[in-house]
Formats: sequence, structure tokens, C-alpha cells
Amino acid sequence: MGRSSKDKRDIYYRLAKEEGWRARSAFKLLQLDEEFGLFKGVKRAVDLCAAPGSWSQVLSRKLRGKEVKGEEVKGEEVKGEEVKGEEVKGEEVKGEEVKGEEVKIVAVDLQAMAPLPGVTQIQGDITKISTAQEIIRHFEGHPADLVVCDGAPDVTGLHDVDEYIQAQLLLAALNITTHVLKPGGTFVAKIFRGKDVTLLYSQLKIFFSGVTCAKPRSSRNSSIEAFVVCQNYSPPEGYLPNMSNPLLDHSYDVDFNQLEGPNRIIVPFLACGDLSAFDSDRTYPLQLDASQEYHYTPPTQPPIRPPYQQACHLRKNNLLAKEDSGPAHLEAAL
Ligand code: SAM
Repeated sequence: MGRSSKDKRDIYYRLAKEEGWRARSAFKLLQLDEEFGLFKGVKRAVDLCAAPGSWSQVLSRKLRGKEVKGEEVKGEEVKGEEVKGEEVKGEEVKGEEVKGEEVKIVAVDLQAMAPLPGVTQIQGDITKISTAQEIIRHFEGHPADLVVCDGAPDVTGLHDVDEYIQAQLLLAALNITTHVLKPGGTFVAKIFRGKDVTLLYSQLKIFFSGVTCAKPRSSRNSSIEAFVVCQNYSPPEGYLPNMSNPLLDHSYDVDFNQLEGPNRIIVPFLACGDLSAFDSDRTYPLQLDASQEYHYTPPTQPPIRPPYQQACHLRKNNLLAKEDSGPAHLEAAL
């Protein structure tokens, strides 16, 4: 694949690089915010499954009042468990009571990610109680106002398997959220609108009085991805957050769990992002301004320790194990 082929196909991929976002998914959170005003009055925010960090960038820029391009922290590689971005003094966010310096943002991911200003990283697993405790420790015992999760497993291409794993990840995110979110707080998470999505909606409705399914314009129509925006966290009376919560239902039985008739929960569906925003399913010319020449823009933050690094190294150096295709092998096959 040539360097510009993805540029040609994907306008948001191109814009992300031009505007200094680490991934095109930044636009999804920005468009969700346009619709729901997610960041109003938020002092403490958690970004679950944050790497490579474009949602954390959005949180940092929006909550800390830093609307600057190319604010990457020139950085050493991430080592150990926690990484703090270079401290940049925040500015007041117009029209809000929250000041930049009061804001605390925590980002969690299994993968290491390059530092970001004003964002504390935890390299950890969102299914672990220790991760919840670590988050609360960073907030000095206070709960979060907002938890976002763009988590996704490595997609296998087998739709049923992918939907199942995504649902489990969403429930894991809900689980850790019940440990760290304040009553009245907001939870936003990626969801696959598969055939069992109503069951997920009803599980979310147990904890939030408002649940809306939203599709930002930057999320391709051809993808079953959408986002649940869950507002007003209000757990059932006496609910005790618990990581081995039965919501993480490993014996997920679709026939048994299917909700029908009056038990079926319907949540509103909202397309969001300005109608004049770019359509992620369309192909746009490489230069939106025809009078300008096309220049390739490199990614804002290349992956620092990608899981495919070792495979690339082996392939480059011709060290990958080769299938034995000699006569003995052919005989065995016959
Ligand atoms: N929101 C990110 C951004 O804008 O840059 C992109 C997130 S990426 C689509 C999904 C991430 O989920 C991956 O980095 C992966 O490591 C993370 N992830 C998956 N399972 C996880 C788990 N159990 N705990 C923590 N992170 C997880």
C-alpha cells in the first residue's frame, strides 16, 4: 500500500494528521460532544482503552482549554506503569467554571502510549480492580465526572465473535465505570449494533437514566460501530461495585437472554455531527482546495511499541518460519 493510498480513501484520516490528532477517531468524540455537550463542567475524566491517544488529546485540549496544534510532548519511550505528560499550565475554559489546572485526566490502556500534556497514563487492564483503584488514587479519592471508552478488541473478521468480544469489553468498561464514576456522571462507550444489542441497552439502563445510541458522521455507515452515551449515573439502591459482576456474563446465552415484548428496551438512535461535516463513506479529492498541490503528511504520533513490531522485524530479516514445501512434505499431504 502506497503512502498516500489511505489518504486518498479517507478524509478523516487525512484531516487527523493535518490537525495533529493521533487517530481519526478524535473526530468521533468531538462530534459526540457537539451533540451532547459531554465536557461541560468536567474536572475529572477517564479515557479507557486510550491508545494511541486521540480521545485523550481531545479531553486534554477541551478540558484544559488548550486548542493548540502539534502539542505532542517530545518524549522518551514510556516505561513502567505510570507516565505523566509534561505539565503545561492550563487556561480557563470559556463559559465554564472549571479551570484548566483543576482538570485531571487519566488514560488507561494495555499498550504503552506516548505521553500527552495533562494526561496521566496507566498501562493496565480495564478488567482489573487494581486499575480502578489506581484511577481513584490519581483523583485523590474523588470520583470521575466523565468516563469514555473507545475500546476494541483485535477484530477477527468473524462477525459473531467480534460482536461478542466487543460486548464483553463494553460490559468490562461499564464494570470499572461503576467503581469510578460519580452519581449523575456520564459514560460514553463504543458499541457494535449487532443482533443482541438490546440486551446491552437494558444492562446499561439499569445504571443510567438516559441511554442514547449515537452515530457520529466520522464513523463509517458501513461499520456496525456506534456509541452509547449514558447519562445520569444512578446505580440501583444498595449496588456494590464488583469486578466479578454477573454482568460480565461468560455463559452469554442468546436464546435465554433475549428480551422480547414489553421487556425489550428501545433506546433513541441519533446521528450526530454537523450535516455539513465530511461524510466518512465518501471519497474526497486529495486537495480540497484545487489550487494547492498535494503533500503527504506523516502520522502525528507513530506507534511507540506496536504489537506487530516483532513480526515486521522477523519478516524484514527473513526470519519467519517457512512452510516445508519439499517432496517429503508433498508426500505426507497425499
Ligand atoms: N480511543 C483511542 C484513540 O482515539 O486513540 C483508540 C482506541 S483503540 C480503537 C482500542 C484500544 O483498546 C487498543 O489500544 C487496545 O489496547 C485497548 N484495549 C482492548 N482491551 C483492553 C483492556 N482489557 N484493557 C485496556 N485496554 C484495552
